[in-house]
Amino acid sequence: MSRIYEQDAYNTGLFPSSYWSQTIERPKKSNALSNNLKTDILVIGGGYTGLNAALEIKEKFKQNVSIVDSAPVGWGASGRNGGFACMGGTKKSFKSLLDKHGKSKTVEVLNAQLAAVRRVRKNLNNYNIDADIVEGGELLFAHSQKSVQVLENEQKFMKNEFDFDTKFLNIHELKSFGISSPEAFAGVLNPNSFGLNPLKYVIGLYKAALKEDIGLYYETAVKKIENLNGNFSVITNKGTIIAKKLIIATNGYSSDDIPREIRGGYLPALSSIMVTRPLTKEELDKQGWKSYITSYNSRNLLHYVRLLPGNRFLFGARGGINADKKSQIKNQQVSRTEFERMYPAWSHVQTDFYWNGLICLTKDLLPFIGSVDDNIFCSFGYHGNGVTTASLAGRQIANIAFGEKPENLPKIYQRSLQRFPFASLRRLGLRAAYVGAKTQDWLS
Ligand SMILES: Cc1cc2nc3c(=O)[nH]c(=O)nc-3n(C[C@H](O)[C@H](O)[C@H](O)COP(=O)(O)OP(=O)(O)OC[C@H]3O[C@@H](n4cnc5c(N)ncnc54)[C@H](O)[C@@H]3O)c2cc1C
Repeated sequence: MSRIYEQDAYNTGLFPSSYWSQTIERPKKSNALSNNLKTDILVIGGGYTGLNAALEIKEKFKQNVSIVDSAPVGWGASGRNGGFACMGGTKKSFKSLLDKHGKSKTVEVLNAQLAAVRRVRKNLNNYNIDADIVEGGELLFAHSQKSVQVLENEQKFMKNEFDFDTKFLNIHELKSFGISSPEAFAGVLNPNSFGLNPLKYVIGLYKAALKEDIGLYYETAVKKIENLNGNFSVITNKGTIIAKKLIIATNGYSSDDIPREIRGGYLPALSSIMVTRPLTKEELDKQGWKSYITSYNSRNLLHYVRLLPGNRFLFGARGGINADKKSQIKNQQVSRTEFERMYPAWSHVQTDFYWNGLICLTKDLLPFIGSVDDNIFCSFGYHGNGVTTASLAGRQIANIAFGEKPENLPKIYQRSLQRFPFASLRRLGLRAAYVGAKTQDWLS
């Protein structure tokens, strides 16, 4: 498999020791492929995208569908993210979308993001998944005095252009809301979103797929895809699968040769999370942080933070450029320094969990949900916002695979896959982009 990070990022033999995986029970045993198999549709990747795609195929199209995943369920980003069920999916601002594509196409993006949040709620409800939901919305906070005006202007822009309701909170309102840090100067509250336990959510989807009699073959890695008289012959480490159609749902864990049609069309990036020991009431009071809302700051290299049920604090940040163990020890130190700068009252509070994982970017910073060749369909590139986006995108790619018009798929997402120039060097480009973003953050 042709991948762009060190092997440590792809070690499916080691389940990430995240806060989530250490505190809930996972399915004991995966059902790996044990024989060769024939299926109408094969989904490669069994996270939110793959499971939603397979559920849609079974529920709506009543077709035979199987999922293959190289790891145990929940090993990928879907089981190790921050649990922010928020609006997003693109790194483009609504202002830049409006300038480039005009109003009606930009409204489609906004509607898609709202529909994606609704999709997660529907899944939780339909499949009876208890994923420790925390309601209240999402909060974007200004990381500097200079960025306060930018936030306020953006909030007014969303109201004036799209009649989209959010609430601007000045520093006093922010503090009484329960959010206080030397790097929180104002905030914008979007009431639509919520927080959840991501591993419970993906396991819930997996159990729903089991009930639907979807073929689930985890711990089964696809090594090669070949064309065989109009079908695909998918060679795994456990046997060969013959399928008429393929849905690729590998997102940040994709390989440039599975299938080769996606080569250079996606860019994985590391994101990391640390979780503290439980904070006492006195410690929470001292920092002035009492809100359980999912929140993130206005930096380009943003921090995403939430107080978890049980009062541990989750602190998310970029994960550096290198995935090897030594680099990750360094990255943990960088995260810890940033945490102590933003939450000085907690600088004595130990980190209990630290882990990382791969998110996925595209060249034009929009999700890709479409076909890359006859009967090969892909969905990836949620820009760190896949809890909601992947849940809807999985449904949409299933519809595309059956020639149906998917609901809430913005026209600007419907394009051919764009490749990064000098594909094999695209990780170096990411390093340069980080330096640029850091400088911008420093100046803003
Ligand atoms: C640390 C971190 C924090 C994040 N926080 C948030 C957040 O708070 N909110 C949010 O919305 N999003 C967040 N994200 C992003 C979100 O988790 C992802 O966008 C989403 O989970 C993608 O789902 P997926 O099903 O497409 O991919 P994944 O869940 O990554 O699944 C892809 C699967 O493909 C499998 N695979 C890859 N190659 C092969 C192969 N050759 N054969 C078989 N199987 C293969 C992998 O084993 C993997 O299980 C975060 C991501 C990370 C890493």
